[in-house]
Amino acid sequence: MTVIDSHAHFEPRLLDADAAVRKMDEVGVDQVVLIPSMNGLFEAPPDALLSAMRTVMRRRATRGIAEAVHRATLTRSGDLRLGGKVIPIYPLPDNGAVAQVLAAHPGRFLGWIFLNPKHDPAPLETLERWRHVPGFIGVKLHPHWHDYRTALLHPILARCQELRLPVLIHLGFGKRGDFRTLGERFPKLTVIAAHAGFPFFDDLWALKHRYPNLHVDLSSPYLDEALVRDCVAAMGPERCLYGTDAPYGFEDASHSYDYGESKGWVERLPVTTAERERIFGLNFAELISR
Ligand SMILES: [Zn+2]
Repeated sequence: MTVIDSHAHFEPRLLDADAAVRKMDEVGVDQVVLIPSMNGLFEAPPDALLSAMRTVMRRRATRGIAEAVHRATLTRSGDLRLGGKVIPIYPLPDNGAVAQVLAAHPGRFLGWIFLNPKHDPAPLETLERWRHVPGFIGVKLHPHWHDYRTALLHPILARCQELRLPVLIHLGFGKRGDFRTLGERFPKLTVIAAHAGFPFFDDLWALKHRYPNLHVDLSSPYLDEALVRDCVAAMGPERCLYGTDAPYGFEDASHSYDYGESKGWVERLPVTTAERERIFGLNFAELISR
């Protein structure tokens, strides 16, 4: 069974590429798709907070509470304020750092090209610059932390649809995560909503028939095993992709990244072997060869 982690970050301050390869070999992950580092955040929020946020986000009536908490953590300059500390969010994550890893470890890593239309005056040129680099397979967008409305993405999404490049998007609240409009305007675009469709979850899963090209990844300590099960039951195994959000969260005993934890979520899913194979790698392999 080929195992591809469709959502991980290149953050050498926590886990460099050589250490990541050793961990991948230990737990049986064949390939990891890397996203350039977008901030200096090294500690996941406490489990109790993440659990409370999941509960309020899963109900439309209380999702606004989670949105208010999120807005309170963003500074006016677009950084994060957590526990009295200001943590920088990088407006233009460094695709070059991932390109170097792709060149050094061909076959083990693939890459997402990070674009931010809010701060990049020419994101289509940035896309053009990186999309020919072997190993880059699609585009990562983060309207949640880069804090822009998804309408700003339309030129990028039109181009990605034309090029058949999948898009991995961490949706934000409200107009910062307008997946309905994206699905209607770009019906042929492959969209992967990060973290099981955060922050919409059930409301996004309910529309899977309307948007046949909408997928989700199962990554991150934002989720837990129960939510992942609900997601796979609602979306179907053919729309779900294994991912980790490494190297954030999931510490092992030595405070290094525990690659096994979120893999266990998928290993224990009540699905057939063929369905598990789809989630672990086959779905992703098909999406990038369209
Ligand atoms: Zn992530």
